[in-house]
Amino acid sequence: MKALRWYGQKDVRIEDVPEPSPGAGEVKVKVKWCGICASDVHEYTSGPLFIPTKKPHPLTGRKAPIILGHEFSGEVVETGSQVKSISVGDKVAVRPTIPCYECHWCRSGRHILCARLATLGLGADGGFAEFVIAPEDCIYRLPGQVSYEIGTFCEPTAVAIHACRKAMVSPGDTTAVVGCGAIGLLVVQATRATGASTVYAIEPNARRRSLAEKLGATVTFDPDRMDAGREIAKLTDGLRVDVAFECAGVPAAMLTALSVTGRGGKIIEVGQMMEPCEFPFQRLFCHDKSIIASQGYENEFPTAISFLSESRVICEPLITVKIKLDNIIEQGIKVLTSERKGEHIRILVSPVS
Ligand SMILES: [Zn+2]
Ligand SMILES: [Zn+2]
Repeated sequence: MKALRWYGQKDVRIEDVPEPSPGAGEVKVKVKWCGICASDVHEYTSGPLFIPTKKPHPLTGRKAPIILGHEFSGEVVETGSQVKSISVGDKVAVRPTIPCYECHWCRSGRHILCARLATLGLGADGGFAEFVIAPEDCIYRLPGQVSYEIGTFCEPTAVAIHACRKAMVSPGDTTAVVGCGAIGLLVVQATRATGASTVYAIEPNARRRSLAEKLGATVTFDPDRMDAGREIAKLTDGLRVDVAFECAGVPAAMLTALSVTGRGGKIIEVGQMMEPCEFPFQRLFCHDKSIIASQGYENEFPTAISFLSESRVICEPLITVKIKLDNIIEQGIKVLTSERKGEHIRILVSPVS
């Protein structure tokens, strides 16, 4: 079968690899669509970050070359002898995280903290391929109204819902989202769906700002042209917001998140910050604010699927282009590492030629 394999930094290749078959507790999924995530691009430009290159992954025994892709949907085409809950023909989304279920953290129910956590597309073969093998408990059936394209958003929507849970967003809360890429636009919607009364969105790209407004942001701000902290203070009688989500993964966004939160506010770090950040902790201390990191998700896939099927989270406008796997390097990865990357939110890839 055809697949996109990561070999090293700036070295990904479309190759023919043997078609995998499922073990007793595993499911074989024929991939329909797989989204290109910023973290795939990070592995390409700055990797290896999560892909094992020297020692094999402790859970899967795998190391590079690895098939990339962790945001995918597909149809079940084969099940192992012990698989009970999933049948051939099911339309599914796949949770790419595979916990060990044995370590201290897994036994405490915190699977994302698993000391041997593997992720399809990083520590095992992922979704930029014609077929993927995944354990049964990673497979989630999609309801009829959720298309295969929208099914690829279960994973990033789970990220957004997890961030809202970590923030403990409550009905009536005032929130802000700094950075409106795919995750930011999903957080705008998830924070609304979980009860926030007001969501301010801060994003320099005009097209993304208008998308944020369309998807539920109350007011949007261009941080290059105005001081979002001061503007939000004016709109909230000086109170500013209860929760700010940093979704850009850059130091400037962290400082914006600090300036828009009010006394006792929470800053949720959702973006993957690739560089160290100088941060005035005194301002955090004086107003008793906290910073909380939110990484991935635990059991948020079922909630993500219900939000998508009830259109509480809308993803069609986030799909900027659909391409074929044959063209993923030129029309996908390279575009997302060029100046044209701002034109895209999610590029979806189909393995069908
Ligand atoms: Zn992702
Ligand atoms: Zn574990």
